[in-house]
Amino acid sequence: MGEIRVVVCGACGRMGQTVVKAVGEAPDLILVGGVDVPANAGREIAPGLRCRADLEATLRETQAQVMVDFTQPEAVMSNIRTALACGVAPVVGTTGLTEEEVAEVARLCEEHSVPAVIAPNFSLGAVLMMRFACEAAKYFDTAEIVELHHNRKKDAPSGTALRTAQLMREARGCDFRGPEVAETETLPSVRGGEMGGIRLHSVRLPGLMAHQEILFGGEGQILTLRHDSLTRESFIPGVLLAIRSVWNRPGLTYGLEQLLEA
Ligand code: NAP
Repeated sequence: MGEIRVVVCGACGRMGQTVVKAVGEAPDLILVGGVDVPANAGREIAPGLRCRADLEATLRETQAQVMVDFTQPEAVMSNIRTALACGVAPVVGTTGLTEEEVAEVARLCEEHSVPAVIAPNFSLGAVLMMRFACEAAKYFDTAEIVELHHNRKKDAPSGTALRTAQLMREARGCDFRGPEVAETETLPSVRGGEMGGIRLHSVRLPGLMAHQEILFGGEGQILTLRHDSLTRESFIPGVLLAIRSVWNRPGLTYGLEQLLEA
């Protein structure tokens, strides 16, 4: 494939703007379009390129090959369905997809013979943190995850926290050990959500970007793994890798780690 024609969906959002700039600067990619909600239609997202609101028309008229999606949980499935039906490969960073929705994307990829990449976290450091967590998960029986994000994030827990818990559970082959005693919450939900015996806690504050700590507890010791995305540029190398490689892999690729190991 020569230059890759890319449409960014959610082009006026925080991640969308960062991706628009990166795609515009990449010598082997062409930013052919940007889509966002109707209120943002007409906004100039790059020199001479105005944002549009009709995804299907934009994908068809620009002959896009890849659609990058950083929108929101309520919008992303419809965007993915549209892209696959148009023969355009989705590269999805939007979080909040359910397991059933991910399964539907995999099925649609087969049906349309169009590939897709979904990655709950596009930063290399976060992917490595998950890999190290899988190693530790084999040796520690108890673990909790604290994820911290800016206060405009719409879904909780983060897609990264859910993916981390899922991978840790898989690496271990069984659930983590739950509480030793019967716990009483005098404030509802204060112990966080639970997945495979792991408690997940979500912090939302202005000043934060995207951060996560995994705490493993053992007799007389704590192992802490922490990753901090300090700027949105931390996600860009992963997004560009996905744009460049999505058409090289059939079907749905879930998780940046699959592309790093390819
Ligand atoms: P954001 O600033 O709210 O940007 C989302 C943009 O998409 C907004 O301009 C929004 O418009 C627009 N939008 C909403 N519905 C749309 C639709 N149907 N079609 C087109 N555009 C639509 O959010 P963000 O901080 O950029 O984050 C976007 C998503 O990426 C979130 O799910 C976040 O968790 C995820 N994320 C993932 C990664 C990763 O590595 N995978 C990294 C960072 C963020 P309105 O504001 O009017 O709704």
